Amino acid sequence: MLKINNLHASVDDKAILRGINLEVKAGEVHAIMGPNGSGKSTLASVIAGKEEYEVTEGSITLDDESIDEMSAEERAHKGVFLSFQYPVEIPGVSVTNFIKTAINETRKAKGLPNMPANEMLKMIREKSEMLEIDRKFLSRSLNEGFSGGEKKRNEIFQLAMLEPKLAILDETDSGLDIDALRIVANGVNKLKSEDNAVIVITHYQRLLDHIVPDFVHVLHNGRIVKTGGKELAHELEEKGYDWIKEEANA
Ligand code: ADP
Ligand code: MG
Ligand code: MG
Repeated sequence: MLKINNLHASVDDKAILRGINLEVKAGEVHAIMGPNGSGKSTLASVIAGKEEYEVTEGSITLDDESIDEMSAEERAHKGVFLSFQYPVEIPGVSVTNFIKTAINETRKAKGLPNMPANEMLKMIREKSEMLEIDRKFLSRSLNEGFSGGEKKRNEIFQLAMLEPKLAILDETDSGLDIDALRIVANGVNKLKSEDNAVIVITHYQRLLDHIVPDFVHVLHNGRIVKTGGKELAHELEEKGYDWIKEEANA
């Protein structure tokens, strides 16, 4: 599904990614871990096509199609979803209305008409029930006064509704409280299928107790310096990142 080949990227002429190779197949969950500043969020942003990052070398393909020249919006329409893509507060726009617009925009890009209102309502009902999201939440203003857990709930709801091919969840370094952790993990586990793939970026191992990855990659200085199975996350939890840095520098 996703193939990243020798990817180099910089910000303000500063090289951050220095030769990333990664292949993600449909049905797989990949975790990307690594010390602060190693380039995890940059990698997520570059895959999603954020403009402030310049790709200086290498390529990314999605389903064997190059996405290098596509805008973030085009990539989203192709099924790439990056969490926190819409962290803005939009007073007066409800969680539901925002997602309706996002879905219809995606359909429009594919030349499809708006989703019929009854079909949309049915989907909203099904997905919100599956994720145990209550109706009151759906009518709240987007992100306005949302707690950490509520932001996560909204994000997972967007994920469920948009049914992306590739979901990239960047949990940032702020850490999640137990409630938010549970919401993210349950949501991802319910939405996982043979047709989609998930990249979970996390500084902490604890999320991976709940979302079990098929592969764990460790990023250091803009390169993947180690890849393993879920046991690698436990090893990192126990031993920290220093041994990885030493191995990478040896
Ligand atoms: P991580 O997510 O692993 O903590 P980041 O990708 O956020 O790492 O950052 C990697 C490096 O790139 C850091 O040195 C950071 O300061 C720098 N960086 C990332 N984004 C920007 C940006 N928009 N402008 C300037 N520097 C950036
Ligand atoms: Mg960081
Ligand atoms: Mg980060």
